[in-house]
Amino acid sequence: MIKKRVLKELRERLMARRDQLLEQLKSFKEELACLDQSHPPEFSEGAQEETAANSLLALDNQERKELADIQSALEKLDQDTYGKCERCSRRIGEPRLEALPMVRYCISCQNKIEESAK
Ligand SMILES: [Zn+2]
Repeated sequence: MIKKRVLKELRERLMARRDQLLEQLKSFKEELACLDQSHPPEFSEGAQEETAANSLLALDNQERKELADIQSALEKLDQDTYGKCERCSRRIGEPRLEALPMVRYCISCQNKIEESAK
């Protein structure tokens, strides 16, 4: 079992990170809206604005994914299923959780998933 104190600390870190991500996503949206306004699509011929918008979108996607991981970690904390690998149901090591509180899989599953994604 993970200690209550550790769980509480992880929950606080997850919530802080969630707020940070929500702020970032908000500012991405504003930046994207700015890009849209200053360069209406019909007039934008340069690839430069598009690249800026695309990298913002890519970042946006990445943050959204992390946000989803954080939400699910918080739900698991509420349901007392936190710290279990979603793939093999084995317990994820505490040092790993402390390093990556929103992690979904144990190290060996993570490796297998990354291996098969290649
Ligand atoms: Zn696993």
